[in-house]
Amino acid sequence: MLTIALIYPELLGTYGDGGNAVVLAERARRRGFEAEIVNVGVDDDVPDATIYLLGGGEDGPQRLGADLLRVSSFSARVRDGNFVFAVCAGLQLLGTSFCVEGDDEYEGLGLVNAITSRGETRSVGELVVRVDGRALVGFENHGGRTTLGDDVEPLGRVEVGRGNDGTVDGFRTPGLWASYAHGPVLAMNPWFADKVLARALGRELEPLVTIADQLYDERVGALAP
Ligand code: GLN
Repeated sequence: MLTIALIYPELLGTYGDGGNAVVLAERARRRGFEAEIVNVGVDDDVPDATIYLLGGGEDGPQRLGADLLRVSSFSARVRDGNFVFAVCAGLQLLGTSFCVEGDDEYEGLGLVNAITSRGETRSVGELVVRVDGRALVGFENHGGRTTLGDDVEPLGRVEVGRGNDGTVDGFRTPGLWASYAHGPVLAMNPWFADKVLARALGRELEPLVTIADQLYDERVGALAP
């Protein structure tokens, strides 16, 4: 059973990233896996799961989400090997610190060596990131600028937009993958959804071609050369 835990959708659901859970579950089911989505509310403890999904959110809810996760079993379960895919606010709160609500700095969960400071301008618009030779497309909307430690590999190189800092986007450690891309990003990039799914399940997957895969080809075909 693939258990997908969507963490605090009422706090980290502003940008529709809960759709990432639906995409993972559906692409798993179409290959014959059983899959369930568990919505983890602010009053729930974090259950065991194959994959945790963290989405984007506004500054206040992001801070509250970090505070709640800090006193939950989330970090212990991640250190035990449960896998995480995080977007934007979710990405930021996994790091050592992040700035929200102006320049006020908050402690992150410290699961990855990454710091998010406040940029002078907000990053809003299309985001294209080269990941393993393919284009990851989506949109971004954030005030934070993320700096990775030297030991942390970014998810990919930014071709359009800002991502972490104008050059790279997200990060990929053995247990944590993250991006600034909304969309939901796994709906817009089915090939990347399959990478996340294969990592979560710990196995290679049969190819799957859906209307979403065809729409991805059209979208990327429309990118300026
Ligand atoms: N509140 C954070 C920022 O503005 C994250 C925003 C988001 O998740 N899109 O940087």
